Amino acid sequence: MTTALAHGLVLTLDPERTILRDGTVAFDEDGTIVAVGPSRETLASLRPGTEVVDCSRCVLTPGFVDAHAHLGEEVMRGLVPDAAPPDEWLPRWLLPAYAALTPEDERLSAELGIAQMLLTGTTTFCEAGTLLDWRSAADVVVETGIRGQLGRWAWDLPPEPAAMRRTTDEVLAACEDLVTGVRATGSARLTGAVILLGIGTASPALLTGAAALAGRLDAPLATMYASVAPEHGGTSLPLAALGEAGWLAPRTKLTHAVYVSEADVAELARAGVSVAHCPTAALRHVKGIHRHGLVPEMLAQGIPVALGGDSANGSNHLDVLRLMYLAATLYKDFRMDPTMVPPETALEMATLHGARALGLADEIGSLEPGKRADVVVFSTDHPEWRPLLHPVQNLVLTATDRSIESVWVDGRKVVDRGTLLTIDLPRLLERVDSAAAALLDRIGLQAPWTWPAR
Ligand SMILES: [Zn+2]
Repeated sequence: MTTALAHGLVLTLDPERTILRDGTVAFDEDGTIVAVGPSRETLASLRPGTEVVDCSRCVLTPGFVDAHAHLGEEVMRGLVPDAAPPDEWLPRWLLPAYAALTPEDERLSAELGIAQMLLTGTTTFCEAGTLLDWRSAADVVVETGIRGQLGRWAWDLPPEPAAMRRTTDEVLAACEDLVTGVRATGSARLTGAVILLGIGTASPALLTGAAALAGRLDAPLATMYASVAPEHGGTSLPLAALGEAGWLAPRTKLTHAVYVSEADVAELARAGVSVAHCPTAALRHVKGIHRHGLVPEMLAQGIPVALGGDSANGSNHLDVLRLMYLAATLYKDFRMDPTMVPPETALEMATLHGARALGLADEIGSLEPGKRADVVVFSTDHPEWRPLLHPVQNLVLTATDRSIESVWVDGRKVVDRGTLLTIDLPRLLERVDSAAAALLDRIGLQAPWTWPAR
């Protein structure tokens, strides 16, 4: 049966950036968009028996893309003290917890992250390359109805924790196992990628091997790059070295990319590399984007700059609406220039650029015939949407998930007025609480609740 989301204000994000005042998005039973256009003619063109969903007084947008999300960390949200020194985050807090995760913990953690994403309009995510048992996360993607790209923990230099020590060959074999294993699931909503943790944890042989593997498998390639300030122990790999390892290619996505030069930006643009900008993680992790970030320059050069929610101890949420808000406002203040990153650009970053960064530009990112029906429907019967003088400003600068009426992925409704239709949320939250308590018990850590010195 064909379904038509009818009579909404539709932000299509098509090549002309068409905005339909009374528009309809129709898709068939397998979730392919078959028509987008003015309601009167579009509805007349559909076959009898079409299910018409009244979306009058609603704004429709393409589903959002979170291009960098650590699913396994969700179960440790709030573990790292707010003022912990940057060089302690991983060794003192996160690595002991990651090393102690069970496949069941990862499953619950993934489901918690996906629940937040779906409730806030994210219909596609790319895991950040920190899964230990990727099959748990793959199962959750299939069950919850979201679209996901997975990566697994991949490094070959750190000797600790012992349980996570890997040789170059083991890492490459594991990445190949993920990409081929994900394909073997046959789920059209799942893709795999070759993703390295990066930031000084990969040998030259792993960098070269990963790029070659991604090329051979025709899979996306990604790593965190130039992320940490030198004064906080950040080690930088010159872009030329990444190029020699085969990384300067359109399949590559670099996350953070704060410590790059204007010449690097030109080189990334020339090579067709995408960037994942994680504004909330940059702020909380004192990355120094106000001084060093070049997001406007990247955008001006045509680099796809996607948005990433990052992690439960560096963001601490996976809400693309809040990322869009920051993308559209931070650089205005950093540069004292109101022309920096218009809200329209922030919306493109959350949709089109995200799709391109995940290698999914033909499938998602806009509402156009032939693409997948990933749609967020906002109700404008809410203070944050009135008056409706400027729909994109209202969406990017004002809207929260409270006004989300429904979320559709692949033509299937997964959120209805704040209720997840594919996740038993009360049961999930209960299980997450006990899994987190047991995890902290096993590693002997507690998030300190002491008030900061006054
Ligand atoms: Zn990250």
